[in-house]
Amino acid sequence: MKQQAAFAWPNECVGFIVQTDLQWFVMPLPAQSGPQHVFVEPSTLLCAAEALDDGNVQVVAVYHSHPDGHSSLSAADHQFSAWARTHFLLVRVNEAWHIQMFRWS
Ligand SMILES: [Zn+2]
Repeated sequence: MKQQAAFAWPNECVGFIVQTDLQWFVMPLPAQSGPQHVFVEPSTLLCAAEALDDGNVQVVAVYHSHPDGHSSLSAADHQFSAWARTHFLLVRVNEAWHIQMFRWS
């Protein structure tokens, strides 16, 4: 996650954390992003969701980054609550990435 966030910097990044029977892994999503927003095409999401379904893989969490150091979720970030209840926010502070966990109620 941190690697992807660093790679996308100064723009935001987004992805899923998915789980198979045996392991968890990070699945970056292609997105249009800027320093303060990130957007995934609905068709891309649908494709990803179908592929995961076919592979019997579950989305356990969603993550995205805030390169500007903002440590709270924005109104637009609530879109992510539709994908998974657990959310990881990567915040860039003093050139290091910090991970914060949120749970949507
Ligand atoms: Zn955000």
